[in-house]
Formats: sequence, C-alpha cells, structure tokens
Amino acid sequence: MAVSWPPLREELRGIEPYGAPQLDVPVQLNVNENPYGPSPECAADIARSVAEAAATLNRYPDREFTELRTALAAYLAKDTVHGVTPEQVWAANGSNEVMLQLLQAFGGPGRVALSFAPTYSMYPEYARDTVTEWVVGHRETDFALDLDHARDLVKEKQPSVVLLPSPNNPTGTALPPEAVTALCEAAGDGIVVVDEAYGEFRRTGVPSAVELLPRHRNLVVTRTMSKAFAAAGLRLGYLAADPAICDAIRVVRLPYHLSSVTQATALAALRHAPELLGRVEELRAERDSTVDWLRARGLTVADSDANFALFGTFPDRHAVWQGLLDRGVLIRETGPDGWLRVSIGTAEEMDAFKNALMEEL
Ligand SMILES: *Cc1c(COP(=O)(O)O)cnc(C)c1O
Repeated sequence: MAVSWPPLREELRGIEPYGAPQLDVPVQLNVNENPYGPSPECAADIARSVAEAAATLNRYPDREFTELRTALAAYLAKDTVHGVTPEQVWAANGSNEVMLQLLQAFGGPGRVALSFAPTYSMYPEYARDTVTEWVVGHRETDFALDLDHARDLVKEKQPSVVLLPSPNNPTGTALPPEAVTALCEAAGDGIVVVDEAYGEFRRTGVPSAVELLPRHRNLVVTRTMSKAFAAAGLRLGYLAADPAICDAIRVVRLPYHLSSVTQATALAALRHAPELLGRVEELRAERDSTVDWLRARGLTVADSDANFALFGTFPDRHAVWQGLLDRGVLIRETGPDGWLRVSIGTAEEMDAFKNALMEEL
C-alpha cells in the first residue's frame, strides 16, 4: 500500500497541477482568448436560452446532445465540399476533454501516443493520466514538421494515437494537407488527431483537415469554441470523424457529460456565430502586423496561422516576461528555451505590449 498520504498513484506524487498563471493585470495576452466578448444583445439572448434550460433542470440533459451535434455539423460543413453529418460529430467540455476521451478510448497501457515537439503541453498529461506511453519526435528549426522523420517514427512506434496541433500551439505552424495524409497512411489503424483549436485563424489559402475526412477513416479533427468563437468560459470542444470513432468515445464518456446549461449556451452561441466570429478578420490582421513589428525589431518570429505569435530568442526569457508583467502586460513563458508567446488582443492591448517590450529591450 501507499507509503505516503494521500495514496496518490506513484507517478503523480510531487507533481504540481499545471496551468497558466491567472493574474489580475490590465493586459492579459497569455492564454489565446478572443479579447472581444459578446454584445449585450447576444449575452441577453444566451441568458434567455439558459433560463429556458433552467426550467427543466430536474431532468438529465439529452445524453446524445443531438441538436447541438446537428448545429456543430452545419458549422463545420463550411470547411468542406463533402459535408459533415451529425453522426460524425462528438463534443465535450472543452476540446481538452475531447482529447482525454480519445486517449481513454484509444490509448491505455501497452499503447503509445505520439506528437512532435514543440507541441501542446497538455497532451503528455492526458497520456500520463490514461497510462499511455508518451513519445515525442522533433520538428524542423522553423517548426515545420520533418515529414520523413515523422513518418519513420510513426512506423517505428506504431502509436494508437498521433496528436498533431495545426495550427500548432505554441508555434502557430499549420500543417499542409499532404503531411496529414502521409501520417494518416503511415499510422495504419492508429488514429491521427489534427487539433484545429486555432483553425479559424488560418491564413488565406491554408485548408482545414476537415476536407480530408472522407479520405481517411482514422482521421479525427478537433475544434473548440474557446478561441476564435470567443467562448472560452463556455467549455465546449468538439470533433469530426468516422461515426465509428464517435461510438468508441461513447463507451468511455461519463453519463450526461454535457449539462443542459452547456448545451443551451453552446446552441445560443452558435446562433450568434457571425457576431462572435466577427472580429476574427481583425485579429488575423493584427496578428500579421504584430509578427511584422517584432521582426522589424530584429526578433525571430515563427510564421503564425493562429491568434498568437512565438518570438525570441532571449538569453533570459523569464526576465523579459517579468519585465512585461511589471508593466501590466501578461504574456506566456512557453515553447522552446528562449522563446515567448504573446496572444493577439485588441489594438490598444497590442500597443501596450509593444510599448512595454520596447522599454524592456
Ligand atoms: C487552447 C487549446 C485547446 C482548446 O482547449 P479547450 O479545452 O477547448 O478550451 C486545444 N488544443 C490546443 C492546442 C490549444 O491551444
């Protein structure tokens, strides 16, 4: 039995809970939120839907969230000429829960989950929590995928789950469709998850992997309402895949995991998609000008298809991060050594960031 209290699993002892600092500072550019909240009209309409749901709170919610899956399928269908059916859609409390469910269903002891660093920092935690072996390959120095290396590693390790954020967090790098296809083919019966949390911020001409779904039955594309959709507080993530993959997740999901309030809020937010997504164009333009501005200051900046920029490199990045924080600007100390990540905020917030960085450099 355990030698310490509480009797936590051996491999979890001494581990600090992970998460970005939540600090109450004027300019928060650290967790890639959309800086523009809903209008009062939109918020009031969401509140009306929640009030309706509240009237039947004595009942469990629709376990199959059929209306929500239908609305999400219609939203995703905009990214493909092939259409998306509600049977291809699954949702959970944030795409992080979707990812955990995928590992619960397809990972486990004796199985491997694989990604290519730098990659999303939460993936290894879900591998650990589901007792799945975690293997990471590398990316090129410009953070593009090294396709030969990636294909070789997939063939060698035979992962049951490959995790590919695209656009990647923390680098902003999008994957070309040829790379997704190559890895879907190399993975055999393993599933390949393309995490498109930042999909809506892609630069013009960069396609979504949703388009590739009919070609690969082992392809899963995940999305979230937390970023472009300006609804991080809602906690709603979803995926599109072969219906057989959704059926597999049904085996591991908790009963009634999406509350009536969540379903009502998400449906109302989807009705207001044009408004909630209305500032995405502006944020993409602000992203491109931020990247240009940082480069003009002599910094190295990764090409970004997301709503953030990874820039560097600094001999002491913590000092730069702290210096910005002292000036009321919170960014993220993440990515490879020497790099920092800034989320794209409003024009005023980006001015505050630029001024603070100028003072710091
Ligand atoms: C932010 C982010 C998510 C989204 O998480 P939610 O749980 O949906 O809020 C997923 N993947 C990546 C790579 C992210 O950066």
